[in-house]
Amino acid sequence: MRYGFGVDIFGPNIKFGFFDEDGNLIDKWKIAAPVLNEGSQIIPTVAKEIDKYLKKKGVSDDDIIGIGIGIPGPVNSSGVVNKCVNLGWGVFNVERALTGLTEMKVKASNISNLSALGECWQGSGSNNMVFMAMNTGLGGGIVCDGKLVWGTNGGAGEIGHIVVNKAEKEACTCGKYGCVEQYCSPAGIVRVARRMLVNTQTASVLRKKKFFDYKDVLKAAEEEDKIAKDVMNRVYDYAGHALAGICCVLNPDTIVLGGEFCKIGQPAMEGIVRSFRKYVFHANENVKFYFAALDTDACIHGAFKLVLDTFG
Ligand SMILES: [Zn+2]
Repeated sequence: MRYGFGVDIFGPNIKFGFFDEDGNLIDKWKIAAPVLNEGSQIIPTVAKEIDKYLKKKGVSDDDIIGIGIGIPGPVNSSGVVNKCVNLGWGVFNVERALTGLTEMKVKASNISNLSALGECWQGSGSNNMVFMAMNTGLGGGIVCDGKLVWGTNGGAGEIGHIVVNKAEKEACTCGKYGCVEQYCSPAGIVRVARRMLVNTQTASVLRKKKFFDYKDVLKAAEEEDKIAKDVMNRVYDYAGHALAGICCVLNPDTIVLGGEFCKIGQPAMEGIVRSFRKYVFHANENVKFYFAALDTDACIHGAFKLVLDTFG
């Protein structure tokens, strides 16, 4: 039997999955990511952890197919990370760095892309799917004919930066104006709510709070607060609008909603599907919507699938 790793570097933590060649997840665990000193110790820490684990299990390096690694930023198909602000990284080849330390084959990609691949492989996705997940921002990934779509420089699937509101005056973190992530994210929901409170006189429980987070907005919406419901409808409308546009290009059969959308549950599904139906092109009317099945393990599954697809 041969084995491999799926690794998810998602900021404060690094998650590891150890799989056999049949795709069974044997072990998973996480450790703190050493983000100091421009993240220079992250890859050496991954290498040490893998070495330690294999010694403990008594598995030879020769039985390892490879290591798949998810990065919270763009990675091109040659393994070059093009700046990763969360980890403090500049431009460097993460595959070469980890191979240098482990002498194992390494394949890297963006965490959202790998989550899409994970859902395609062992979750609720399909071979022609769009993955959209609300976490800190709005991430995405695309699988077309069973293959992860990378694009020219690893920038495919950046759904969060589709412009849906040309009238926006505040800049997105990417520097553009009106990206869907500016509304469809925890910080975005709070921002939409604050604006609505300023621009209307409508009564709302949110007016009584000096500070509120997006969970307060969700809770108020569940309790039929008019402003909070309008905020969430606006957020879902933008998400459905973006997805309907993506479908015009890809004609997928499945859309998988992940991250916080799963936690919100039915209201998110209903709101996004309602909006999608409003904007959809007729060839895409029968797209099926599902929640992600692998939750926060989607990335480690996708990372190992990438290893199997590349080196298996
Ligand atoms: Zn943007």
